[in-house]
Amino acid sequence: MPLSKRNCFIHLPLVQEFLRSVGGEAAVGVATHCEKKGKRVTDEELAKKMKLKVTEIRTVLNRLHYRGIACYKKTKNKKNGWYNYTWGIKKRRIVELVLEEQQESIEKLEVKQVFGKNYCFFSCKNNCAQLPFEIAAEYRFKCPECGEIMGSFDYTKKLQEIGSQITEMRKEVGELKKLA
Ligand SMILES: [Zn+2]
Repeated sequence: MPLSKRNCFIHLPLVQEFLRSVGGEAAVGVATHCEKKGKRVTDEELAKKMKLKVTEIRTVLNRLHYRGIACYKKTKNKKNGWYNYTWGIKKRRIVELVLEEQQESIEKLEVKQVFGKNYCFFSCKNNCAQLPFEIAAEYRFKCPECGEIMGSFDYTKKLQEIGSQITEMRKEVGELKKLA
């Protein structure tokens, strides 16, 4: 891998999705620009670069700052006495948060997996919900949502889906760990 590419990971879909969830679409642009630049930038510069209003950039930066992803440095302008803010992105914090979030999602899927393997599920033909035997029996095998009769639900396909989802997520996590 060329030296310039090292420690660059904002382009990973997993990371972009996370940034979007924190600060909207513009958060991806802000982080990408900061990563490329490699040093602190002003909100004006970001606004110009991304063709957005400075207020919009500030909103994004504040959201990122709230999660500890963006940080700023305040310096006094000697000419006019105003304060200048320059912003940076804490990439280590992004990695930390993304890995945390992924781990949680993987664990939730694993719980579902165990559940699917060990219990018998029932569902109506509309597939409103998949209920375990005990609960389906309480409803006398009538779907609580649409009233249709519930039959046993084949969980095999669902388990395969969950399995490949987990594999995919582990792969993404591995990729991030390698680049970060
Ligand atoms: Zn139903």
